[in-house]
Amino acid sequence: MTQTLSVRCQNCGSPLQVNDGLRYVTCGYCKSELQVVRDASTIHTEVLQKVVNEIDNLKTQVRTLEVQRAIAQLDQSWERERQNHCHTNKNGQLHEPSVLSGLILIAFGFIFGAFLGGATHDHGNAPKFFGAIAFLACLIGGLATMRQATQFASARRRYEDQRKLLIHSLEATGVSDATERPSL
Ligand SMILES: [Zn+2]
Repeated sequence: MTQTLSVRCQNCGSPLQVNDGLRYVTCGYCKSELQVVRDASTIHTEVLQKVVNEIDNLKTQVRTLEVQRAIAQLDQSWERERQNHCHTNKNGQLHEPSVLSGLILIAFGFIFGAFLGGATHDHGNAPKFFGAIAFLACLIGGLATMRQATQFASARRRYEDQRKLLIHSLEATGVSDATERPSL
């Protein structure tokens, strides 16, 4: 036989008879949807909307933590990707590839090649030959640098777009303290 328990409605205080084992009940007086909460010694009811709100709050917190973690992971993987795109100088500083440094290299090749190409015939064809080689080397190097710079720029754009999306979804959860962007 099912045991009946006496409990009061949390909303209006009316006495309710609840079958043992029942988790949800509707108050016969105020029609509140109630959750029957049992612990070791007591039994009481909670208005269900309140329970739902608490679950929503927890979900929001979990979602916020997930997004913050995703942002931290994205930042980390971008830092690794950035290091792959960059070259390190003698002092261990990272240099990002830029279109400008490619152009400078090509311009240098032009000037150097023209200088050697303009050498007098007293020195034979050797200066012209080395001038052409230097010009070609600078041209190839400069074009490669410009290509790297373009690839780096689009990789950075991808990273920034993804980060923006995550920040937006973080703002949508109502949390304003977005993860600090690491200084690059
Ligand atoms: Zn009630």
